[in-house]
Amino acid sequence: MTCQTSRECIPQLLQGILPPALVAELGSHLAGCEACQMELAEEQALSRRLREVARYRSSAALRAQIERQLEGKASIRIPSWVRWRWVAAAAVLLLAVAASMMVLTRRDPLRTSIREATQKHREMVLKQELSAFHDVGAGGSGELPRQVSEQLGLPVTSLFLGDSELALMNARPVVAGDRKGVALLYTDRHGSASSLQCVSAPEIKVPKKNGLQVESFHPYHTQIDSLQVLVWKQEGMACFLVADAGDQELADLFLKVRKAM
Ligand SMILES: [Zn+2]
Repeated sequence: MTCQTSRECIPQLLQGILPPALVAELGSHLAGCEACQMELAEEQALSRRLREVARYRSSAALRAQIERQLEGKASIRIPSWVRWRWVAAAAVLLLAVAASMMVLTRRDPLRTSIREATQKHREMVLKQELSAFHDVGAGGSGELPRQVSEQLGLPVTSLFLGDSELALMNARPVVAGDRKGVALLYTDRHGSASSLQCVSAPEIKVPKKNGLQVESFHPYHTQIDSLQVLVWKQEGMACFLVADAGDQELADLFLKVRKAM
């Protein structure tokens, strides 16, 4: 099993819909692959959080919607014996994962922050589906860069506030450890969401390799599951553009966001 396949299988495993034959294959891949172990631990944390969000929603209709999203895809159930065997294996695995994550967090702030950015993106997308949109449009949005700069102390003078194709749906402060930042969520008319997150992170270095050339810019490019991520540094801030988009859409989006700053 390749890492690519393994990553596609992990969400299905956590939903209990991965066919038994693949459970075994995934298990043996995970045993030897630190990167995919991390992926599993992060997916577990995410689905736990999604479930928690679901639990605390007051509206039954919304709760039903989340339940459907989390579990509705289930068609093939793993026989219980497979699951139990898996739980035992996973317990051993998690100890290794916890240890390797601590090492990795210290070793690779870029990778850790990319993970955080994609999780934040997913949380924002989820909340957007569940609640009325925060109106930062029209009168409010022009003030946004000034608020970000004054309230969060970020070196921001202007931000992409949406255009005829993309609407700015949500803007919120991000606090991750002692880092401060801002996260902006955009949506197109098909409901595709993308987010820009800028955090004060002078320690994060963005490598030159894996750069995506977009006009004169070379942001670092990576992919986490189906999400495309571009990362660049700007005045002591690390900026993350996360989008569920094709290559061309991603480049177009990047130019809008990057040139506005
Ligand atoms: Zn792997």
